[in-house]
Amino acid sequence: MKKFILPFLIAQALSFNAFADNDKSYNDNNDRDENSQVEDLHAPKDNLIVSHFWANDFTPRKASAALTPATANMTFHGGNVMSAVNTTLIFWGKSWSNKTFISDKVAGLNSLYGNFDSSTYAGTVSEYLPTPLIHKLVQQKTDFSTSASNNPNNVLSEVCKVVGSANIDPNGYYPVYTDVKRGSAGYCAYHSAGTCGGKPLQFAFFFNLDGDAGCDPQSSFALPRNDVNAQKPGYVLAGSTSTKAESQGLAALASVTAHELAETITDPVAFPVTSSAFWGGWYDSLGAENGDKCAWTFGPSTVDATKPGTVSLGGIPWKLQGEWSNAAQTAGTGYLSNGLTGCLSGS
Ligand SMILES: [Zn+2]
Repeated sequence: MKKFILPFLIAQALSFNAFADNDKSYNDNNDRDENSQVEDLHAPKDNLIVSHFWANDFTPRKASAALTPATANMTFHGGNVMSAVNTTLIFWGKSWSNKTFISDKVAGLNSLYGNFDSSTYAGTVSEYLPTPLIHKLVQQKTDFSTSASNNPNNVLSEVCKVVGSANIDPNGYYPVYTDVKRGSAGYCAYHSAGTCGGKPLQFAFFFNLDGDAGCDPQSSFALPRNDVNAQKPGYVLAGSTSTKAESQGLAALASVTAHELAETITDPVAFPVTSSAFWGGWYDSLGAENGDKCAWTFGPSTVDATKPGTVSLGGIPWKLQGEWSNAAQTAGTGYLSNGLTGCLSGS
């Protein structure tokens, strides 16, 4: 909805209530430590961090309330979309050596991404793609040797470090799951992009959402976040006797994971970066992408009519937010949310 242009840094903010955080982050970006330990990973021609869509404003209802029918549908901005997505899962931070912290997160996210392709949920993005989506979970990287950070420059550097510039995939998507607590940050996750060895790279960042009330979808398939067992592995992990499907922290990551993936597919940063028109995909006149427009809303489920937002991926039930469909809004066939009918439940 608003573009900030700074040297090496162009950002477009999405979260209508997070500008203060954005500004804070810009300062962080400018203060970036040039003496990074990953010295050979920033070739001079690299644009450092590009920008980030502040996804999942954690008080999303305010953001949704700002939308009006006049800004209902998204438009294409002349860049590109991702019909082919090869995901590399990255787990970053010292806690990823701790089994209690890991809980069912690694197994669960592998399952979610591994079963995304051809799912009903993936179908919510099809109208924006020239050819059917082909999503592949190609590999997983874990780095618990350093402390994680939510600074986009640091996240980009971490992706570049663990993947290696020689291996950056032009169709790659690199979601980074960390052990960083959200604190006062006004978002749960974001997607962004930059370059590594001169190669374009789409990535995303996720806070640790264990026990985080501001980013909790209150999934029926997880124990309440204040339950002492809320972070214990559910039956995503083989051998569990839990009657719930996921730990609360995993269930929370799942919904924002769906949000960021759907947005990266429909609105990746367009490269080469030569002007301010970095975000060349689909978003509305306020800058909201498909995930933002339906954030924290959960539509009727064909899997379980009693539990809105339920989506089955590979037999695992998840509570995932809806995604915006121009076609559904135009036809009036999506579920009613904030006076509009463009959100699809994905089940
Ligand atoms: Zn978003």
